[in-house]
Amino acid sequence: MLKTNLAFDSVDLREKDRRHTVHGWTNYSKFVQEGPEILVEGDGVYVTDVYGNRLMDAMAGVWCVNVGYGRTEIVDAIAEQARRLPFANPFRATSSPSAAELSARLSDLAPGDLDHVLYSGGGSTANDTALRIVQRYFNTLGKVDKKGVVSRRSAYHGTTSASASLGGIDAIKAGFDVSPDGVHHVSGPYAYREADGAGPDAYCDRLVEEFADLVERVGAQRIACFIAEPVMGMGGVLIPPPGYFRRISEICKANDILIVADEVVTGFGRLGEFLASDAVFEMSPDIISCAKGLTSGYLPLGATIISSRIMEVLRGPVAGSETFTHGFTYAEHPVCCAAALANIDIIEREGICGHVRAMSGHFRTSVESLLDFDIVGDVRGAGFMFAIESVADRKTRALFPPEVDIGERIAGHARRLGLIVRPGGHLNIFSPPLTMTRTDVEYLTDTLRRSIRSTMDDLVREGLWRG
Ligand code: PLP
Repeated sequence: MLKTNLAFDSVDLREKDRRHTVHGWTNYSKFVQEGPEILVEGDGVYVTDVYGNRLMDAMAGVWCVNVGYGRTEIVDAIAEQARRLPFANPFRATSSPSAAELSARLSDLAPGDLDHVLYSGGGSTANDTALRIVQRYFNTLGKVDKKGVVSRRSAYHGTTSASASLGGIDAIKAGFDVSPDGVHHVSGPYAYREADGAGPDAYCDRLVEEFADLVERVGAQRIACFIAEPVMGMGGVLIPPPGYFRRISEICKANDILIVADEVVTGFGRLGEFLASDAVFEMSPDIISCAKGLTSGYLPLGATIISSRIMEVLRGPVAGSETFTHGFTYAEHPVCCAAALANIDIIEREGICGHVRAMSGHFRTSVESLLDFDIVGDVRGAGFMFAIESVADRKTRALFPPEVDIGERIAGHARRLGLIVRPGGHLNIFSPPLTMTRTDVEYLTDTLRRSIRSTMDDLVREGLWRG
């Protein structure tokens, strides 16, 4: 049932949207035929669509509504700031109380000497900013050949020109021009498909060796930074083997290669810490990019958190000028910063990071029960981010042909049963609000179980799987 009495003309809205909105990451032939799904309200871990159907949002929007929907505290902070001062020119050192407070707060939450924050509109621009910082840092130091970036296959860092070039998922680049020059991709930690029977330690050795070989081959004097998500999200919730980031970080430090941790997904509680790259994975980052959970998606905001060591260099003159020539009009937007502060207050006051740590074992056990199904090859995850990987044959790990669209089928059944999960080829991914209770977890797993069973029945009926 709808919470409010707002009446929506669903036919009119869907038609307007279908005709005029360009949606990202959308299959256009399907969209033109079927139109959009229109959501009108949210409350806790649930959203309501334009027809009044209540759905558990196991994606938390797009990995972002960490504290859940309907938080009046954030809404009030937004309204109050917008009433007082909706905008302050971020250039030429103008600021606002909410920006100043948030920068200090993020500096406290970030590890080591990461004490300086440069804001932007989201995750892609936070990563673009990180690259610009790295370039300016080495150029200022006169190390003008240090331009290369090491990224990983299956990585997702956004869809601006620069961040898309860093990505390691080919689909991001299809039909677009990207500039792969200077971007070197090493393997991501895809143990289920690529460990070839090696245990975690041997697999880790192999990944670290591959990284070290690349540094050797390209030359450390030509590599500026390594960028990585602590847990790869969109690439399939890929968890690194123990010691992986600590060892790669050691190689980076020894070779003057800066480390950029992309915590756009993993930040703000999703792995049970405000920021996980150092606390959980010993990455020792020089720069951290974050967005999404920073405001729990209530308003757009990205943040690039920079070390004092880098900042000291950036403050120096370049080509005779001390002006730092980077920045966005909506950078430290006072209203977005107010939303972030209220969001961080909630995460702290309600002990949400502790809740994720306490609940994550139960979550894992619950979703691992899906391994009982013959088409579920792997269930993996950490904190409150999980993926199930479907296979046509558990023994050989063979995939269904792409046209079977197995992830879409499972997500489609889930949607009909009242659950939103993300499809992605042979994967279904879920990263729900961090406030999920045990009962919510049971509902999620139970609905997935029914969705997978219905999918298997369909496959057998359509002769696409022998059962
Ligand atoms: N980095 C990671 C790890 C992401 O998952 C995403 C988005 O999903 C981005 C960057 C890009 O963020 P945005 O879509 O806010 O630009």
